[in-house]
Amino acid sequence: MDLRALTSKAYRSRTARMLAGGVAFALLVVQLLVFVPSLISQHRGSVFYQLEMERALVDIAFRYSNLEALEIPASVLNDRLVGLVLIDESGRLLLNKGDTLGYEHEGSEPASSGALHVVQWSILTDASPIQATGFVNLHQVRMNTLWKTLAYIAFALLSSLVAAMFTLVGTARSYIAPMEQLISALRDGREYTDGQLPEPIEVIEDNDLSPLTEEFNGLIEAQRKAARQVKVKQQYLEFAAHHDPLTHLPNRLMFEDTLKKTVHLAIADDLKFAVFLVDLDNFKFFNDQYGHLVGDKMVAEVGNRLRTMMRDIDLVARLDGDEFVVIQKDVIDTDSAEEVAKRIMSVATAPYEYRGFTLKAAVSVGISCFPDDVHVSQGEEVLGEEIVNNAAVALQEAKSNGKNQYQLFNEKMRLRLTARIRLEQDLKIALQDEQFEVYYQPKINIHTRQCTGAEALVRWRHPVNGFVSPEAFVPVAEETGMIIELGAWILRTACNKTHELQQLGYTGLNVAVNISAVQFTDGNLLPMVSRALDESKLSPELLELEITESAVMHDPEEVILSLHQLSEHGMKLAIDDFGTGYSSLAYLKRFPVNTLKIDRAFITDISSDNDDVAIVEAVLGLGKHFNMKVVAEGVEDEEQLNFLKSQGCDIAQGYFISKPLSSDQYTQWLDRWPYGVQSGNDATVMELPEPSQMYKRTGTQG
Ligand code: C2E
Ligand code: MG
Ligand code: MG
Repeated sequence: MDLRALTSKAYRSRTARMLAGGVAFALLVVQLLVFVPSLISQHRGSVFYQLEMERALVDIAFRYSNLEALEIPASVLNDRLVGLVLIDESGRLLLNKGDTLGYEHEGSEPASSGALHVVQWSILTDASPIQATGFVNLHQVRMNTLWKTLAYIAFALLSSLVAAMFTLVGTARSYIAPMEQLISALRDGREYTDGQLPEPIEVIEDNDLSPLTEEFNGLIEAQRKAARQVKVKQQYLEFAAHHDPLTHLPNRLMFEDTLKKTVHLAIADDLKFAVFLVDLDNFKFFNDQYGHLVGDKMVAEVGNRLRTMMRDIDLVARLDGDEFVVIQKDVIDTDSAEEVAKRIMSVATAPYEYRGFTLKAAVSVGISCFPDDVHVSQGEEVLGEEIVNNAAVALQEAKSNGKNQYQLFNEKMRLRLTARIRLEQDLKIALQDEQFEVYYQPKINIHTRQCTGAEALVRWRHPVNGFVSPEAFVPVAEETGMIIELGAWILRTACNKTHELQQLGYTGLNVAVNISAVQFTDGNLLPMVSRALDESKLSPELLELEITESAVMHDPEEVILSLHQLSEHGMKLAIDDFGTGYSSLAYLKRFPVNTLKIDRAFITDISSDNDDVAIVEAVLGLGKHFNMKVVAEGVEDEEQLNFLKSQGCDIAQGYFISKPLSSDQYTQWLDRWPYGVQSGNDATVMELPEPSQMYKRTGTQG
């Protein structure tokens, strides 16, 4: 650093200025205190001292001179002693030099004039004493003294200034510079937000700032450590956000990202690739049979094998529980994709050893190829979605064809997919245009034959395709969530109809409404049902909600809670299609259920299949044990009805009694039903009439 810069920096520092000023002032005061008194006293006696000095010079000049040949040195006379007269002991004039005011020997004694002052000294020479008369310019003497005083003061000022300068430079070197370095380093530390930190500062020994510098360096080191930890944490979070914790494979997010890039590249470079959806067959069985730990190990092992099998440029990701996806890049043709599918199946199905168990999994694979299976004219986003949907359809095909196989997406599947998409669009329109109707299928008390009520069944009259089966559109409505709106409408309509019938005098008729699992888990079921009951003014005991066995068993603990809430509000609950969904008897005990509906599959062959007889007997036994009513659905002939009666079944529903009827048809049917309708007080048991009399079918739909 150059001196000017240093001093100017020091000068800009208030502290340094004050310090330097203080030093200069102190020094000046000390010097003035020491010098000035002596100067004042010197000034007073200065004339005397200077005269003494002149005398001493004269004394020295003439003490050893030969009086006979007296020579005067040039240095004796000067601007102070301007004239000199010497007289020996005998009164002889030895010398008259300079301005002696016209001295005349033997005349009157010389006297001082305004400008000159006369002084007389006697000088002891070797020979004899001589008398000296000096003519002194007093003004000059005084001026000399004044200049000297001024010189002293100037010296004091100058030395103070120099001391101040040294103080400034010293302060700048040892204090300001390190401080500035420290401050700028701290400022840098605050400004660097991208993880870069300033370098530590060199610690200067024996410097006041050393502890501060060390502390600063400590802070920097701590910050560096923290920054390193943050980086590691960020890397971990980044990994966790894009990977599956069980298999450490890329997750759905990363798959979607990679797929997007792969589609983009494939379009740009005219490349082919294939997407494989791989799903473990019967994985739920493995989980239930061996526990989730074994299930997890299996998933991890399959993931690992797939990753090892594929090349680095390909992608293997885990999408869900037991579902993997593979992107094979640069596929030459469908044959090579099939080759990969075969290898996937062979590595995934190789046996696993786990704690002494030998497990063998099977997988189904759905394959879709790019660009063959997609409509390339669409946007890239849509293309990615389309290829995955295609692979999902192919996987579904592989599953429904018996699992443990691969399926390439094909034209037939595309048609089905297109139909499915169209159905979804039409369903939306149907909801807006109110193309739905509720039909009612009557139920009777097997013993009295009185009608106890009906099951409400939805019907869709498509403006072009005509009647569409609920089995075709209800699953789509469930998948798309449209069932929430549709189900609420069905419930409202059924409650209103039943209340209308009450007004007509059918006070004991109930209505059963099918509730989807989606409605059940929606969390809004109770308010929706309560609203429908309030609006229709139907009493809750006359409403029965039918939930399929598989829906009930999906999440039993949550279902138990909801069922209790509904039951507490007075509604009746029925398990539909009982016998098809592996109900746990332990749970059955805890369900507040009033009715079991035996699935019609068991009723159909009841007269010929002993197994079905056994199942029906078992369900009836269960119903009795748990004090539940049992409804047999799908009763198509008298034989079935009689058998059910003999087994103690309570209620029957089926084509033998009536097909599902439109609202008006139902009212008419009730009018004509020969055994009457269960009243609010319940009817008496009636004997069965002849079958021909019993079944007077009305015009039906469904
Ligand atoms: P489900 O609840 O088990 O309904 C009984 C099905 O059996 C009805 O078919 C009915 O028409 C039919 N059925 C009744 N008696 C006989 C018979 O004697 N023989 C034969 N072969 N079939 C008979 P549908 O109306 O086509 O309904 C099929 C399924 O669609 C229903 O099964 C139910 O799961 C669902 N579904 C129908 N309506 C609704 C609804 O309003 N909401 C919901 N969520 N699902 C509904
Ligand atoms: Mg039902
Ligand atoms: Mg059923």
